Amino acid sequence: MRVLKNFPQPNTIKGQLHRVLVWITFIIGLCIFIPTLYIEYRQTIQHQNEEMTHYLDAQTYFFESWLSERSSDIHTIANLDYIKDYNFEKSQAFFQDFKEKTDFTDLIFVNKEGIVQFDTVTESSITGVSMEVNDRKYFQIANKTKQPYITDILISKVTKQPIIAFASPILNAQQQFNGVVFGAVNLDTIDQLLQESRVGFLGHSYIIDQEGTMLTEFINKQHRSSDNYLVDEHILNAALKNKTNGLELYKDANEKWVLAKSKPINGGKWFIISEIGLLEAYKPLIIRFSLITFCLVVGSFFTIKMMLHLSKRIEEPIQQLLTGVRKVEQGYYDYQINEQQLAPYAQEFQELCASFNEMSDKVRKDTILLKELSITCQLTKLYNRRYLNEQGELVFKKCLQEQNHCSCIALDIDFFKKVNDTYGHLIGDEVLQHVANIISNSVRSIDIVTRYGGEEFVILSPNTTLESSVKIAERVRQHVEDNPYYADNLEINVTVSIGIAGYGHSKNISTFYELLDSADQALYIAKESGRNQLRIYDNIGIVDAGQIL
Ligand code: GH3
Ligand code: MG
Ligand code: MG
Repeated sequence: MRVLKNFPQPNTIKGQLHRVLVWITFIIGLCIFIPTLYIEYRQTIQHQNEEMTHYLDAQTYFFESWLSERSSDIHTIANLDYIKDYNFEKSQAFFQDFKEKTDFTDLIFVNKEGIVQFDTVTESSITGVSMEVNDRKYFQIANKTKQPYITDILISKVTKQPIIAFASPILNAQQQFNGVVFGAVNLDTIDQLLQESRVGFLGHSYIIDQEGTMLTEFINKQHRSSDNYLVDEHILNAALKNKTNGLELYKDANEKWVLAKSKPINGGKWFIISEIGLLEAYKPLIIRFSLITFCLVVGSFFTIKMMLHLSKRIEEPIQQLLTGVRKVEQGYYDYQINEQQLAPYAQEFQELCASFNEMSDKVRKDTILLKELSITCQLTKLYNRRYLNEQGELVFKKCLQEQNHCSCIALDIDFFKKVNDTYGHLIGDEVLQHVANIISNSVRSIDIVTRYGGEEFVILSPNTTLESSVKIAERVRQHVEDNPYYADNLEINVTVSIGIAGYGHSKNISTFYELLDSADQALYIAKESGRNQLRIYDNIGIVDAGQIL
């Protein structure tokens, strides 16, 4: 959840970069992963098939050799002279001796009537108990074909155990059938032989006949569905089908999925079946799959890290630019992006930021100029009426909060129209400038001097008592009177009339506009009273300076 929370908004550059990044990684991952997995799967199956083929070949070779050797043993015995001559004493001794040295569990001598003459386990002939085997297939085949024969599983009449028998006919001098020698081999022995022939294979193998009867592995009942040693039908069918080279997939008797392969042996009468658990078969694939997944995860991790780093290098300068633009939008025209910080980023971003800084610098300068122009009188270089309206209220409020005095002087040039009429407007302008200079030079630095309109000026004096303001006004009036305008042998005398009002002095004044209006009223009286003088707005009315000072 935290990761999701931290994931950037999808409509931001960062968000879009991250989304593209995740997709690229995912697609590249799939492009590598799926074909690799497919190739690995094919190779594993092929490898498994080859391994099982080799294994089966080796086992088949081993087993076929063993069968042929045992068959040949019996055949050799059946051709011994004292066997042919029915020399039972010698034969019996030989049988016992031979049995000890070989895999046979029993060696049996059967006469031509099919009666067991003797065997190495029960020694029946000696005890006089006769046992008939003429109903046995091996006896009948030996009798009929006079050829050696290997049986399927049968239950030994002697040991009552399941066995396979190697039979060979005894032929007399005239090559007539004269009995059978057969050697019984316990299935345990065959099982053991098969186990011994296992080399380097993780699965297991067993042998069945064409009916599906198990010749090996019958003891642990692993593949038996009943006591008749039969494998399940689907396993038999798979074995019969698997004379080709493929692998069969089925569930074994333990309901476990296995890959199997079979090969006929003993002239096609039996099948040797190799099975390997699906998990073991696919173990190399699983290991490779895990390795590829691990490499992909590590690769993706570093790719994402690198891409994130790249996205950061794009996103960070853009963020700085955005901050700059927002600052300018908010009116911080002096905002500059730190170009040093952008040094590690792409050249384009550095150029963009340099341009931004130049632009904001230009905007700042132009704005200052515009601001100056908007509050300054171009002719006199004094503040204009707009500025007085803006600042007047602020200054007045501050004095009000700090319980300070605040005074205002309204000043008008006397008979200025006459100057214009007499000397022309250009000279009139210069006279205006001249008076403005005198006013500026006669006030203190805290006083705000403005050209209120036409030939009228206002001086706003914060933190100034009415008395101090009267002194300033008188000084201004005197300076104007004492300093005529000179130009081209021209001397123009000008005077000014002044009205003064003071917050803190007059009870009627509680706003800036009341202060301004009061000063203007006093100015009007000064004009009325003959000009070139000052009048003060007082509680009792308009008074002259003498009444205040
Ligand atoms: P009073 O003593 O009553 O103030 O008489 P006045 O002539 O000064 O007053 P009035 O209002 O009759 O005339 C003011 C004149 O100031 C009229 C106008 O042409 C002139 N004036 C206003 N602004 C300017 C300016 O910027 N330049 C010049 N040259 N004249 C200006
Ligand atoms: Mg005037
Ligand atoms: Mg006037």
